[in-house]
Amino acid sequence: MNRPADPDVLLRPRPPSPLQEIRDERFDRHGVQLLLKRDDLVHPVIPGNKWRKLAPNLRAALAQGHGTLVTFGGAYSNHLRATATAGRLLGLRTVGIVRGDELAGRALNDSLARCAADGMRLHFASRGDYRRKAEPGTQARLLAEAGARGAYVVPEGGSNAPALGGCAELGRELRGCAAVAAVACGTGGTLAGLAAGLAPGQRALGVPVLAGGFLAAEIRSLQEQAFGGPAGDWALAEDFHHGGYARVPAELDAFAADFASRHGLPVERVYVAKLLWALTELTASGAFAPGTTLAAVVTGRP
Ligand SMILES: *Cc1c(COP(=O)(O)O)cnc(C)c1O
Repeated sequence: MNRPADPDVLLRPRPPSPLQEIRDERFDRHGVQLLLKRDDLVHPVIPGNKWRKLAPNLRAALAQGHGTLVTFGGAYSNHLRATATAGRLLGLRTVGIVRGDELAGRALNDSLARCAADGMRLHFASRGDYRRKAEPGTQARLLAEAGARGAYVVPEGGSNAPALGGCAELGRELRGCAAVAAVACGTGGTLAGLAAGLAPGQRALGVPVLAGGFLAAEIRSLQEQAFGGPAGDWALAEDFHHGGYARVPAELDAFAADFASRHGLPVERVYVAKLLWALTELTASGAFAPGTTLAAVVTGRP
């Protein structure tokens, strides 16, 4: 693979992503101001929180002299795709360990085909091994089987201590802008970092897109690893997952299409639509006092 002329294009700090003020009667009626933090525009190639989380890991991998990155994800993972693209642009080899060895003999879906086209080597792990991938013994065996021994390891979803540092920058960009900064959560890494970067008195609100209720413990553990203890004021609104990961009921899809046409932005369905729905519902139920400013982080694009 060729190294690009200027790896800095991917790694140099970016200007703050735009903050877009919108008018929407569903918020106006309750005296609530909604701002959109357009993190989908933070980087031209790697969108949103995937760039925030990957860039510090890529800097660390290069500084430590690694030639290969290995990471983990499901068959539709945005994180796998972002890692594959970053590897191609930086001239780093990438290996993706994918959940589900039943996929090994099949044609690749579009998402995995794009990873492969970016040069990522795909290794399909059994669901049992995938579940235990963070245990040292299992991880060492998976890396050996995938031909990635000694590679720089980025965990599933890219959420580790360097990634939380990158997401804290997102919080710092929102200082003084809003009382509440809200974000959709998968692994919770973005919320964990964002909360740490806000100023005292600001609150972070996370909207999990997976069912299960395990996320708060996960976020505490991520903050412990990254910052040595709890950081910032955060809470979760757990009732807006719409049945679970990647479930998009027709009414959510219609809500997202309507929001997109009212405000002229593409609304990603797996995460961003659930966040905007949650803020609309919470506002309608009086959860935010009149005069509250909300910043909704648009973490990615469709
Ligand atoms: C991955 C992703 C998230 C979830 O981020 P976590 O740090 O895993 O919680 C949110 N929004 C979009 C668009 C994503 O691709």
